[in-house]
Amino acid sequence: MSHATGTLYIVSAPSGAGKTSLVKALIELTPNLQVSVSHTTRAMRPGEVDGVNYHFTDRDSFLRQVEAGDFLEHAEVFGNLYGTSQSAVEQALAEGRDLILEIDWQGAQQVRRKLPQAHSIFILPPSREALRQRLTQRGQDHDEVIDQRMAEAEAEMSHYVEFDSLVINDTFEHALEDLRAIVRSYRLQTSAQQARHTELLQALLSD
Ligand code: GDP
Ligand code: ADP
Ligand code: 5GP
Repeated sequence: MSHATGTLYIVSAPSGAGKTSLVKALIELTPNLQVSVSHTTRAMRPGEVDGVNYHFTDRDSFLRQVEAGDFLEHAEVFGNLYGTSQSAVEQALAEGRDLILEIDWQGAQQVRRKLPQAHSIFILPPSREALRQRLTQRGQDHDEVIDQRMAEAEAEMSHYVEFDSLVINDTFEHALEDLRAIVRSYRLQTSAQQARHTELLQALLSD
């Protein structure tokens, strides 16, 4: 008998490309799909909630968790530490839940090495101007932070070739449909369908 194991997705993008809003919309439309809540040392933005957007922590505690081997992956991005809890990922997948990791390209490389079955998706903005405009209109980062994120966007985007799928977030709805199509397609893979339809397959193939 096959047992259910959730599918792991990695979603990466330069800051401001729309990854968080797209993933939020995708999850609202998709049963049995959730997003992993990362740990970070960055300051909380207005409106963010501890334990919902991130587990907010300080540098010392974060480094202790690194020492303890608590993270599946971790990386420094824009001067802050970000990490994914190994036990939370293991638990979700073992319970058959599909999980999205919203992480940067360094984290994506680490996860691919440990869990090669992960499906990775890269999101690109339709232009540099649109990226700057989205970072500005989000209104949550200071000008210097926006300049830094724009400066690092090119380095981040150069890693798109390492990803299985590429989505351009020009029209939000169009990009959302692309993400839904990717998830739907992976859910139709034979191995996933075997786990989901074990009884049907047995009934169809027995005398
Ligand atoms: P935003 O993505 O622009 O909203 O800004 P954030 O401060 O939320 O994230 C900054 C960067 O850190 C993005 O590239 C995220 O993908 C990345 N990031 C967030 N959580 C994690 C994590 O758990 N691990 C890794 N490696 N990167 C993360
Ligand atoms: P990220 O998580 O990649 O940093 P966000 O999801 O926070 O990006 O999006 C950055 C800003 O751009 C937000 O204000 C969001 O509402 C906006 N945005 C996202 N997608 C689009 C789009 N297709 N067109 C216009 N604005 C968008
Ligand atoms: P069209 O249907 O004419 O190809 O594209 C309609 C809109 O969707 C245009 O704004 C175009 O830039 C955008 N678009 C084209 N291809 C893609 C794609 O693969 N993904 C996403 N998200 N948008 C796309």
